[in-house]
Amino acid sequence: TAPTIYVITPTYARLVQKAELTRLSHTLLHVPQLHWILVEDALQKSTLVSNLLRTSGLSYTHLHMPTAAQRKLHEGDPNWLKARGVEQRNEGLRWLREDRRAAAGGGGEQGVVYFADDDNTYSLQLFQEMRNTLKVSVWPVGLVGAMKYESPLVQGGKVIGFHTGWKPSRPFPMDMAGFAVSLRLILAKPDACFDADAPIGFLEGSFLQKLVTMDELEPRADDCTKVLVWHTRTEKPKMSTEKAMQAQGLGSDP
Ligand code: UDP
Ligand code: MN
Repeated sequence: TAPTIYVITPTYARLVQKAELTRLSHTLLHVPQLHWILVEDALQKSTLVSNLLRTSGLSYTHLHMPTAAQRKLHEGDPNWLKARGVEQRNEGLRWLREDRRAAAGGGGEQGVVYFADDDNTYSLQLFQEMRNTLKVSVWPVGLVGAMKYESPLVQGGKVIGFHTGWKPSRPFPMDMAGFAVSLRLILAKPDACFDADAPIGFLEGSFLQKLVTMDELEPRADDCTKVLVWHTRTEKPKMSTEKAMQAQGLGSDP
């Protein structure tokens, strides 16, 4: 049977959350042999997310892990201040290594782990590209880093560098959406996780440098010439009219 794709998604409560998770779940429904690990950035699991998962038709695990108070971004903070979704991705890794591994009876199962933020746009082709990953597979990510795309540079089937506009010499200068890791490697390196204190731009490298070297990366998407995932970001909806109506007792029924 084909290796299972484990998709780890951090998510947090805001007005667009249900829309984001609806769109992402409908993408994932088209992918065979997939297990969604949805990790809420919250003190407890919410009813909204519980209901969405229960009726989704997907194979899933629902987890929660709040972001440490001192790391939480506040309204108006610039978004480059702190990396987001870090504790949640690490909780997904913990579940794979402890809970799932025990349930599956050891580390023999073939699988691949992908970190999919709830607001990006994913081509179905991407999941075919990552399905057979020996260690770490990589590909371009569109609309990221204030560029059309960022990408590994490939020569003779090997990654020899990176197309990125900022600090190309940092370890693995790739977006979270640009790689997948084999489950075997995740289980073989139990200490590899995301460093919550890594500055933005160094988060992916803080994890990947514990797993592989650059020459071990497996280029996908036609030697990294195709964009199959986009780092799209959703506009925050305006609520000025809602607030004005609320003041008159005419706000929308929650
Ligand atoms: N996220 C989270 N808690 C937060 C902010 C973000 O769990 O306080 C999640 C979010 O739902 C997404 C991921 O972390 O799945 C990355 O966040 P975001 O898309 O805001 O980051 P960016 O696109 O700006 O890198
Ligand atoms: Mn995002």
